[in-house]
Amino acid sequence: SLTYFNRFKEMGVIGSGSFAHVALCWHKKEEKFYAVKKIRLGVKELNSQAVQEVRVLKKMNHPHVVTCYDTWCERGFINSLTHENSSATASSNKSSSANIPDEEAFCQYIQMEFCPLTLREFLDRYDFSQGNFVWQAFEQIVVALDHIHKGGVVHLDINPRNIFLDFEDKVKIADFGLAKSTEKSTVGPISEDTSYSCSGQPGTGVYRAPEVLAVAVDETKKKKISEKADMFSLGIILFEMWYKFGESGHERIRVCTDIGTDRVLPAEWSKAHPRQASLILELTATEPSDRPSAKQVLEQLRNHS
Ligand code: ATP
Ligand code: MG
Ligand code: MG
Repeated sequence: SLTYFNRFKEMGVIGSGSFAHVALCWHKKEEKFYAVKKIRLGVKELNSQAVQEVRVLKKMNHPHVVTCYDTWCERGFINSLTHENSSATASSNKSSSANIPDEEAFCQYIQMEFCPLTLREFLDRYDFSQGNFVWQAFEQIVVALDHIHKGGVVHLDINPRNIFLDFEDKVKIADFGLAKSTEKSTVGPISEDTSYSCSGQPGTGVYRAPEVLAVAVDETKKKKISEKADMFSLGIILFEMWYKFGESGHERIRVCTDIGTDRVLPAEWSKAHPRQASLILELTATEPSDRPSAKQVLEQLRNHS
């Protein structure tokens, strides 16, 4: 049975990677919006990644992790807007989606709460007078990471495009597509895939910890990866939350790369933001064990206020 089109009216594609699309969907019975992620299955590596994403997401139940309502598999079109049983929709969308390759495939569907804004979009529009909100949002990210790590999971793709704000400006961490279990006993530990270096988004590499980047070159380095990899990403995000970049994305990537590789912060900015600067340097320490845990960062934040 066609769960997808029976249950939802697809309103449009809100995000896409190479093997997944996320659509804004109207739940006909509940009369509510959801975000539905469709991951194309078939290739072995994609299948295990999708299984892992679903497994981790279902296990997470936290106010600052995106809520997953249902998951299922069915045959469908990745870019299904053109294939709904309505000829009007089909013809009106023909031209706009003509350049998107569209094949029928077996897909993994993930029904999630719809979040209207990514942290990336927020930061690009951000008004710097709202300093309190920024510390609040940062704390919520740390609370979510603490929960994720306590559950024996490393996210491994923490970046501002995978962190969302909901309608109440609450932080929600999403996209567990690269997440790994830290417990040796469970299925799917840091394992047989090379996805650490893969990313659909240019510049995502700046959020990756040195030990994660090293795996792309030398597979034997996997054992060094722990939840501290997410803490490195958090350090880069903290910087981005407080530093006003120019218009070009190049500057952002260059400055963030300098922090990650040489641990150099812009001098003027550091003087004006000593509290942020020292926390960023701790979080981006080259040696994972030198980085504070999410729990330790939370203690630090709470002692301060
Ligand atoms: P990428 O590799 O580009 O990160 P992905 O295949 O891992 O993509 P996601 O990051 O889960 O997929 O989703 C891709 C995009 O879809 C997001 O960047 C965002 O724009 C949108 N999106 C995902 N989940 C949601 C959600 N719950 N609410 C609103 N938009 C979402
Ligand atoms: Mg993503
Ligand atoms: Mg992803």
